[in-house]
Amino acid sequence: MNIILLGPPGAGKGTQAQRLVDNHGMKQLSTGDMLRAAVKNETPTGLKVKAIMEAGELVSDEIVSALISDELASMGPETGAIFDGYPRTAAQAHALDQILEAHGRTLDKVIELEVDEDALVDRITGRFTCASCGTGYHDRHKLPKVEGVCDVCGGTEFKRRPDDNEETVRTRMQEYRSKTAPILPIYEERGIVSRVDGMASMDEVTSSIEALLA
Ligand code: AMP
Repeated sequence: MNIILLGPPGAGKGTQAQRLVDNHGMKQLSTGDMLRAAVKNETPTGLKVKAIMEAGELVSDEIVSALISDELASMGPETGAIFDGYPRTAAQAHALDQILEAHGRTLDKVIELEVDEDALVDRITGRFTCASCGTGYHDRHKLPKVEGVCDVCGGTEFKRRPDDNEETVRTRMQEYRSKTAPILPIYEERGIVSRVDGMASMDEVTSSIEALLA
């Protein structure tokens, strides 16, 4: 299966993609994660996109489509792909069609996580992760049981994304509304869009997605 998880920042795409990886051995292709790694490693791409990401704007279609194409090329044909945070523009949606075709894959489903935008700002501006194992926490909704110590691995270092501040989040939402939401009709015409209530608990969202894939 090849599926796209679509939804504004903070809708839970990354969490749900990770669960699909764990439950089904699929591979998560997150352009956001790939770009953050490039920034961290100070690659030529990383240096080019750092300021754009910090401002919450979209990086060029060519850069992200090349990342996705390279990643798919390294995967065996039996491994399903979960596209997380890609495509985000009509040009990327068309590029993805071509990339999938070149790899003999077809797009099975587009799952849109529907969420309330004000709640998203609250979700995003409080989130942080364990620097060692990546477990997610939240200032207001999910603090570690022992302050400063990760529940899962005992790590004591935590990190926050630099673009998770309110001003940048608003820009990211605006980018989603103006450039990403308009690509849904492309997939609606093909009859492959399903919607899931992204405001439900994480486990409920996972169950709804599992039901769609069954
Ligand atoms: P994300 O982790 O998906 O929220 O992405 C973080 C940031 O990376 C975004 O705000 C953009 O600056 C950039 N980015 C990630 N994926 C894309 C994409 N498909 N197209 C353009 N920019 C992207």
